[in-house]
This record gives sequence, C-alpha cells and structure tokens, in this order.
Amino acid sequence: MADKRDYYEVLGVDRSASPEELKKAYRKLAKQYHPDLNPGDKVAEAKFKEVNEAYAILSDEDKRRQYDQFGHAGVDGQGFDTSGFNVDDILNQFFGGFGGFGGFGGRGGSPTQPQRGSDLQYSLTIDFMEAAFGAEKQVRIEKEDRCDVCNGSGAQPGSKVSTCPTCHGTGQVQYRQQTMLGTMMTSRVCPDCQGRGKKIEQPCHACGGRGHRHTVKNLRVKIPAGIDQDDTLTLSGEGEPGANGGPYGNLYLHISVRGHAFFTRRGNNTYCDIPVTFVQAALGADIDVPTIDGTVSYHLKEGTQPGDTITLRGKGIPIIRRENQRGDQIVTIQIEIPRNLSAEQKELLRSFEAGTTDKNYQSRKSFFAKIRDAFK
Ligand SMILES: [Zn+2]
Ligand SMILES: [Zn+2]
Repeated sequence: MADKRDYYEVLGVDRSASPEELKKAYRKLAKQYHPDLNPGDKVAEAKFKEVNEAYAILSDEDKRRQYDQFGHAGVDGQGFDTSGFNVDDILNQFFGGFGGFGGFGGRGGSPTQPQRGSDLQYSLTIDFMEAAFGAEKQVRIEKEDRCDVCNGSGAQPGSKVSTCPTCHGTGQVQYRQQTMLGTMMTSRVCPDCQGRGKKIEQPCHACGGRGHRHTVKNLRVKIPAGIDQDDTLTLSGEGEPGANGGPYGNLYLHISVRGHAFFTRRGNNTYCDIPVTFVQAALGADIDVPTIDGTVSYHLKEGTQPGDTITLRGKGIPIIRRENQRGDQIVTIQIEIPRNLSAEQKELLRSFEAGTTDKNYQSRKSFFAKIRDAFK
C-alpha cells in the first residue's frame, strides 16, 4: 500500500523507539484525536484510526519485526486486514471497558455524556366516582432525585470545583490491555471522579457529594374524568433524573378503580338493577332511578316485565378527554314478589286471580299452548 504512511512516522517516533516510548507517543496521539474530544471531526477520526493501527502493529513484537523487515506488505492481512479495517471494531475495543458505570458502554460512549433518567412505575387506586368525574389526587413518590442543594453537581455551593487531574476532565482513564490486535489501550471510568471529569474540593453536605439523594415527593395528579380500570397516566419528566444533567425519565401511573355499591361499568356505560313491586310493574308507576349524577324520575310503563331494560341516554360515564360526551345508563328491572302477606291481602289476591284470563298472561298462555302441541 503505497499511500500508507510509515507507522513510525504516524506515531512520530524513531525506528529504534522502545516499547515505553511507543506507548507514550501513542497515548498522547490517541488522546489528541480521540473521537469524543473531536466530535464529528472526520480528519481526527482518520488520524485516530491510523494511530491505533500503527500502535497495534508496533506494540506487538512479532508484527513489529515483520513490519521492520517487509514494510506494510509484511503485516497486511495478518489479523489487521487494512481493506476490511473497521474503525468501529477498534473503537469498541478501545471503549469497551465502561462496565460498572450505570450501564454506560459501547462505541464512543462517554461517562460524562448526558443520559436520560429511568422511568418509574406507580399504581393508584381511585373510587368509582373519581374515575367517572375526575379528581385531583396526591401521589407519594420516592426516588433518587437530583440534589436540590448542589443542583446535582455534588459540590457544596460556593466551593471550588476543578477539572479532574487524573482524567483531565474526560471522565475516563486508559490502560493497556492485550487484545487480538496486540496491546491496546482500553478505557475505564476514572476512579478519582467516578466519570464526572471534575474534582470536588468540598462535597455537598446534603447528598454527600453524590449529586442525588433519596427524595419523597408529593405529586398532585389530575385524574381526567372517564378514566378506566387499567388505564395509564404518563407524567412526563417525573421519573428519575438523567446522569450528567440528562433529562428526567417519565412516571407511569397505572390506574385501578374500586367497585361501586350498585353501579357497574363497562366502557362508558353504567349498569344497575332496580327492584319494583309487581303492582308497579303491572300498573305502571313513576319510580326513582339512581344515576351517577343523582336520582332521576322515570315513568315505568304499564305491563313492565322482569328483565326489561331502560336506557338513560347520556347518563353514563363521561368519555375521557371529550367534552360533553357521555355513555348511557342501562337499568334492568327486577320485580319483587310480595312476602309475608296478611290473610286479608291473600284474600284480595285470590279474588283478583279468579278474575284474570289468558289475555292478562300472554307469555303463560303461549307457553302452555306450546306444551299442548308438543304432547299431541
Ligand atoms: Zn448535593
Ligand atoms: Zn477523573
């Protein structure tokens, strides 16, 4: 490869450079062209790749000897195929060592980069009527929140914060590691600043320098009218704070609704049963019907049968986030047969019954007609 620069030239060292001198030159250049310190700079990225390649060969005793003897031809295709060279692989090897730092890792990831905070999941149980008409509830949230005394910096307000001398503010330190490409420099979270890149002289008293602390927060949550069992409310930005000033996660509030003494609910319709007397059902009557708005008067028609339903339009549950739209209330009529009758009441019923005809009992009449037909 004629267009390839000499590896010694790339690292700026003499051909007789010792492994220590190579390493020193490499560290300096790798840091200078580091993609994290030169975001989006293609020239720096190419240089970084070139420096890594040169060091991968020259830091390996065998490969260096072959390179010295045969030049690029001596090492091409020996586990370092330049045509298939993938800078991502190198970067992965280079940055593969962030384990143990809050899940940071992978190519080019930096412990000092802002990260979005975790989402939180909470559940809230509300009453039937609160679900129907909405409510304002207090929800007690416990989380690790950004310390409000130091605003997450971990430094006592007014105290000095300087760039970490160990990692020079990058939040990571590099060390030698044997890889398939020879000795490589691998990065780890800086042990002196835990990846912050800053050295705190006086840690915040409130959070002990961690920048976050256990916090109890009473959130006022507006429950919209019409919310239903198993609905979820999203409270944007009420999750945990992001690392390095990153945005907060969300809080997801899962809703449970308590049952009601006599209403049930399916979707936006409410249901209830109403007992009436057999005389009310037979003669028709004005009855009181409970709805979620209160009691309404309803005229029960003459000859109402058990199981007949009444639909009260618009008396059901408000439809969530749609103004003035509601479901219906469906009422099922139950007819109660009187018990504990006095002798006088029984006598009245007997004389009433003696005067009835098939015209009064149509279902009964057709039922017995069917039975007669069946046994003919
Ligand atoms: Zn603090
Ligand atoms: Zn540091």
